[in-house]
Parts: sequence; C-alpha cells; structure tokens
Amino acid sequence: MVKIPIRVLVVDDEKDFVEMLSLRLNESGQKVVQAFNGKECLDILEKDGVDVVVLDLKMPGMDGIEVLKEIKQRFPLVEVVMLTGHGTAETAVEGMKLGAYDYLLKPADFEELLGKLEAARNRKESQEERIRRAEAKLMVRRSGGLS
Ligand SMILES: [Mg+2]
Repeated sequence: MVKIPIRVLVVDDEKDFVEMLSLRLNESGQKVVQAFNGKECLDILEKDGVDVVVLDLKMPGMDGIEVLKEIKQRFPLVEVVMLTGHGTAETAVEGMKLGAYDYLLKPADFEELLGKLEAARNRKESQEERIRRAEAKLMVRRSGGLS
C-alpha cells in the first residue's frame, strides 16, 4: 500500500530538536517544514499546505498556547499535536480544550509521535471529506435537483 506523506510543520525554539525530529520524520517518508517561533509558524501556514503542526508549548515570545489559539482561529482544519515538559502537562490539557488533537511529554517517543500524527491527519482528512460532501449536497439543492 502506498502511504501518503503527512505534511508536518515542526515548531520549537530548540533548533537541535527541530533538526533531529525533521530528519527522522523525513526518513519515515513525511514532508517536513520547520519553524523556530510562533510567528514563523503562522507565516508558513499562510502559504504552505500543512496537515499537522507539532507545537512546542514553551517558547520565548509568543508561547505555544497563544500560537495554538491563533492556528485554530485562522486555520481551523489544521491539526495540532503539542509537545510539553512534565511541569506543564496541565497546559497541554488546556490546549486540547482549545482544539489541539493531542499532546506528548518530552522527550517524546518517535513511534508514538508518528502514530499521533497519522491519527491527526486522518481526522483532518475525514473532516475535509465531510465538508466536500456537505458542499456538494448544497449545490444539488441550490440547483433544484432535490427538494
Ligand atoms: Mg521550548
């Protein structure tokens, strides 16, 4: 079976971490873009197609929760998997209430992360499919095909 790559945006202020994770994601066949702060993340989402954002919650400047709120407001179908330290697990739960798909504690297990990225991408795809079907139904109704 051909696997469709997940378009992943990795956002973390720790450069080494971003590089390492990007490398592993690339090796596993995913399509990766990188950002090192919230503003870069939002700029990329503005122009690139992204399925899932891997978002570090602890960043200087705009913190992860602020970035998450902005993502969900401007790009509601983009899924977010948060990365957080032990001390901030409550923040991650808060993030899920704000629309993030899930979270992982750092240091995250790669296979577990990959599993969550796949599940998040699947949720995005089925949501997009439901929207397409709803739009098609609306068009049929507008053209008077169904009453
Ligand atoms: Mg950080």
